[in-house]
Amino acid sequence: MDSHSNSASPFTCLVFDLDDTLYSSKTGIAENLRKNIDDYLTEKCGFAASKASSLRVELFRTYGSSLAGLRALGYDIDADDYHSYVHGRLPYHLVKPDPQLRSLLLSIPQRKIIFTNSDRAHAVRVLKRLELEGCFDQIVCFETMNPNLPASTRPDEFPVILKPSPEAMEIALRAADVDPRRTLFFDDNVKNIAAGKAVGLKTVLIGKSVKTREADYALEAVRDLAGVIPEIWGAAATQGGDQAIIPTRSGIDSIPTPTSVGA
Ligand SMILES: [Mg+2]
Repeated sequence: MDSHSNSASPFTCLVFDLDDTLYSSKTGIAENLRKNIDDYLTEKCGFAASKASSLRVELFRTYGSSLAGLRALGYDIDADDYHSYVHGRLPYHLVKPDPQLRSLLLSIPQRKIIFTNSDRAHAVRVLKRLELEGCFDQIVCFETMNPNLPASTRPDEFPVILKPSPEAMEIALRAADVDPRRTLFFDDNVKNIAAGKAVGLKTVLIGKSVKTREADYALEAVRDLAGVIPEIWGAAATQGGDQAIIPTRSGIDSIPTPTSVGA
C-alpha cells in the first residue's frame, strides 16, 4: 500500500459506472448511441423510422435497455451483433484523455471497479480513449451479468440482466467480492443509485449538485471527489488543512469504525 493508505478510511472499494459517469454526457457519445439504437430498430427490426425514438425510450423505461426489451418481446437479437452495431459505430474520438481523472484515481489506494451495463469491448475502448488503463482492478459489465445469453435457444429463455435490477446488483457485489457497507458506488442514473442503496452501498450521484433520497452524496463530476469525500484517503485527509472545513455528508455516520483497509 502506498502513502495514501490509511486504516481510518471507511471505504475499502470504489465502484464506478462508466458512461456519463467517468466522462461527461456532453461528449456526444450518448447522443450518437441513441441514434445508433434508433437505426438498429429501423434497419434490423423493421420498425418505422418515425416510431424508433419513442420505442427506444419505452423499451429503456420498461426493460432497462432496447436489447433487453427486444429479447423480452421475442426478437431473437444476438447481444454481440447488437453491441457491435450500436457501440461499434460510435465516434470514440469524441472521448478525450483525462489526465486529471487519471491522477485522482491513481491516488486512491482502495480497489476500484467498473460496473457498467455496456459490453466489455465498449468499456475497454472508452477507458483507453480516456487513458485510464491500469486505473481499475476489474470490469463488471454486460457479459458478467449475462453469461448464459450466448447459449440461449430462444430469446426469452434468459432475461437480460442489467442495472438497476436487484439481480444485477447482487451479481456485481458477488463478482467484485465487496462489502457494500464499505463501498462507494458512483452512477449518473438515479434508479441505479436507488438500487445501489437498496443493497447497502454508499451512493454517489454523478452529474448533479443536489442529492436524491437514495444518494449519500452528489457530485457534478468525479473529478470533484477529493473536496466532497476526503474520507476516501483516510483520516489524515480530514484532519487539518483546507479539507477539514469541507462539509461532508451523512452516510458515513452509520459506518462502523474500520480496523483495516484493503485487506
Ligand atoms: Mg451511466
